[in-house]
Amino acid sequence: MSTGVSGAPGSEENGDDWQSELRRQFPIITGHPELTYFDSAATSQKPRRVLDTVTDYLTTSNANADRGTYPWANRTTDLVERTRARVKHFLGDGDPERSGVHFTSGATDGLRTVARDWLTGLLADGDEILVPFSDHRANLDPWLEARRLLAERGVSITVRALPVQADSGDYDHRALPALVGPRTRFVAATHVHHVYGGDMNVHRIRAAVGPDIPICLDAAQSVGHLPVNVGEGGLDVDFVVFSGHKALALPGIGALWARNTRGPRFRPAGWDGTPNTSGIASLEAALDWLDAAGTVRIDRWTTALATRLTDSLRHLADIEILGCRTSLAADTAMPHEQRRRGVVSFRHRGIPSDDLGFILFSHGFMVRADSLCQAGAQGTDAVVRVSLHVYNTEEEVDRLIAVLTTLS
Ligand code: PMP
Repeated sequence: MSTGVSGAPGSEENGDDWQSELRRQFPIITGHPELTYFDSAATSQKPRRVLDTVTDYLTTSNANADRGTYPWANRTTDLVERTRARVKHFLGDGDPERSGVHFTSGATDGLRTVARDWLTGLLADGDEILVPFSDHRANLDPWLEARRLLAERGVSITVRALPVQADSGDYDHRALPALVGPRTRFVAATHVHHVYGGDMNVHRIRAAVGPDIPICLDAAQSVGHLPVNVGEGGLDVDFVVFSGHKALALPGIGALWARNTRGPRFRPAGWDGTPNTSGIASLEAALDWLDAAGTVRIDRWTTALATRLTDSLRHLADIEILGCRTSLAADTAMPHEQRRRGVVSFRHRGIPSDDLGFILFSHGFMVRADSLCQAGAQGTDAVVRVSLHVYNTEEEVDRLIAVLTTLS
């Protein structure tokens, strides 16, 4: 299937040409030259290919899946099964016979489904789990809810917090081994942090907990932004959960990938109901588009933009960057995993973050300005977050820096 994307990974094409060709494929971006969208961690914009695929599906083949005997229904059933396989392939799954993909409405639903339908069946009285207390609340609430559901059945479990380094926001991998014991049964972690932008080094969690404990990875901020590979030599995790809408597909569709080699096989409880078929069509098109554009190159582009931004912001006396200030550079000598990705959050020492959000919009910049759904955050913890995707440009970042410089 042609995606209309040029600039395949590894080609010698000039990076700017490659990027401007991709940017041109986002009608909402090209249609609003006076605005700059810097909120892709909240949701991504959609390329023409995704929009056309959804229209095409709804105008030529719309039907329910797994229920009919006529061509539209059969085509829809094929679409659902093909997209299941597409998700496995996109994640570099080397054992697609054993693994499973369950469609969800998004990352929140996926994490809740793992907690409710799988984790509660795994745990026994006295077991312990390790979960993140300062990541997105979508990756904390479900595990606390599982503890509550188990308690109702008379099963008492201990929920421990993954330790965090105060200066970088990364997990504290040195403190982690002391928290792992014979009753540790499960770890939930995040791939890329939605506030600090750092890769959370999940391979070090695997090293600390050993080979047998299942790990569930919240990949909401990585799928669609950088390669997420669960194959040989990749991420040794048992669940990958993500939202389609952050990865160029429509809202209301997400996927939960389960490796099914540690613990019981994942099976969603109960009756699924009608799948979000137009969302699934958008997801297939988005994954095709991303593979053709090259997630390695998208990652390189957005990381370089984030570096450009942080390298300037760190010189502004009134700006406090959240998370690590020293691993911000797209330093090629630095292990790939430790780099900050395309998310930069900061506060202005003299201007409340929500006011700064309004000021920036008066200059055409759409940023996020609140407490970002971070677990444990209070309303007073508001920050400004700039989050980038392949359609953003150096010129947009430079204009933002110029405005923030006038406010310092
Ligand atoms: N996890 C992370 C890291 C996120 O950034 C988000 C969305 N901001 C979610 C989970 C929840 O995603 P959704 O709202 O699409 O379910």
